[in-house]
Amino acid sequence: MNDILRKVHLTRSLNVMRSLYPAEYDFYPKTWFIPEQSEQFRDDVRYIHEQDQQHKRSLTTFIVKPSDGSQGEGIYLIRNPSSCIMTNRPHVIQEYIDRPLLINGLKFDLRIYVLILNLYPLELFLYDEGLARFATIDYKAPATENLHQTFMHLTNYSLNKKSATYKHTINDKQTDGSKRKLSVVWNQLIKMYGQDKIDKTKLLITELINKTIIAILPELRIEYEFELPMGKKQNISCFQIVGFDIILTDKLKPILLEVNANPSLRMDFEKETELGRVIYQPSPIDEEIKKPLVLETLKLALPKKKLHTMYELLIPHRGASLLDYEEAMTQRLEKVAQRRVDERSEKIRSIRLTRFDAKHNPYFSRPLKEFRKDDEEQQQQNKKVLLNPFTLVGGDNGKEDEDDPFLTSYNRTDEPKMVKRKKLKANNKKQLISNDDHESGENGANQSISTMIESDEKNLSPHEMYLLKKQYRQGLTANNGIS
Ligand code: ADP
Repeated sequence: MNDILRKVHLTRSLNVMRSLYPAEYDFYPKTWFIPEQSEQFRDDVRYIHEQDQQHKRSLTTFIVKPSDGSQGEGIYLIRNPSSCIMTNRPHVIQEYIDRPLLINGLKFDLRIYVLILNLYPLELFLYDEGLARFATIDYKAPATENLHQTFMHLTNYSLNKKSATYKHTINDKQTDGSKRKLSVVWNQLIKMYGQDKIDKTKLLITELINKTIIAILPELRIEYEFELPMGKKQNISCFQIVGFDIILTDKLKPILLEVNANPSLRMDFEKETELGRVIYQPSPIDEEIKKPLVLETLKLALPKKKLHTMYELLIPHRGASLLDYEEAMTQRLEKVAQRRVDERSEKIRSIRLTRFDAKHNPYFSRPLKEFRKDDEEQQQQNKKVLLNPFTLVGGDNGKEDEDDPFLTSYNRTDEPKMVKRKKLKANNKKQLISNDDHESGENGANQSISTMIESDEKNLSPHEMYLLKKQYRQGLTANNGIS
């Protein structure tokens, strides 16, 4: 699903529908793919700007986004196509919505949660609560001097939390937090524009969601069939929570920005202490929205047969009513959710104690100034450690990387070594594989790779080393299969 909802992919699906039903699919900004449509984009901009000048409007602005990006990473605004930075990474360029709806002068976007419960027949559920994320600097219409102001133009939490004016929402009633409950924002908007107009906007949002899902439905079904072939489907309940990011124009028209296949379900936020350590604090607003979201989802997604059985079991023995049953279910699900939160906190804690703790790794968890002071004396000592690619992956604290037996066994080598790279040509690879045919087990394989690699010319990064070993291992397995 991730792929289907990437920006390039989603745009293609919506474009197809727009070409068929232009009036129905007018809720997505005009979008170009870069690099494929660079020429087209240049021509279109020339035309659009000519029109702007004729109508004495300010020049249209565009927003450039990496197709596989998230959390505002790699996004920037341009007016002139020549300002677009060309890379191999696929991007989309969109017409920038330059007259967004503002509350107290701030731009915001809405995160709306939708549960896709079933594809045959299509069953969608719209969650009645959500989030509104606010920019942290008063909005001004785009102009050359403010295009770079991310805290003004982008509403991502991940960016704005770094702003000095970011306001954490502490309680329910707070109406000026940088992250607000959707219901709070609806109430604010009702006060500004009246119930009728807001009801109409809500209706448009529902339609936008339905139309978007319909646009991607064929691909969703193909993926579903592919991932869950016939025979496996009966016992599986497959569902997905997706997050729609929507912005409202100053005319209260909803515009789709993107759909997140994996919306964040985090219920805490990171905070840096004075000593430069990152701590995790519970975020009441996220808890209030996301916990019931997960609970409600599980209630809906639990196989009906199982629900029925549980219900049957409860009634005769306890004389329970449907309400008792719902209550019991909720309590159970809450317990499960709480356990997951506890497990996660424990995991974060243990990771910080090992890999990210200042005691073990001086590059983490310390203020920059303090680090610089003893940088020089530490450098010699650390150099040795940092030059060894394996230490970076597994750490030198005796902990093994359980996911990767190759890295694990490499960590066991005593002395840090400079490791070199060789282009693994097909012939070399074959030769190596046949040379190593007699070796059995992973340690044997590692040893031969190590010998090969050490005789090579350039340094390998840990990731390259991992890939090389994986490649080698696959070759070895394939070879064993043939002989
Ligand atoms: P990401 O996946 O990196 O969060 P988005 O498409 O959600 O990328 O864009 C990030 C932010 O940029 C949005 O939250 C919104 O504030 C702003 N933005 C994105 N596209 C537009 C647009 N076409 N017009 C106006 N603002 C936009």
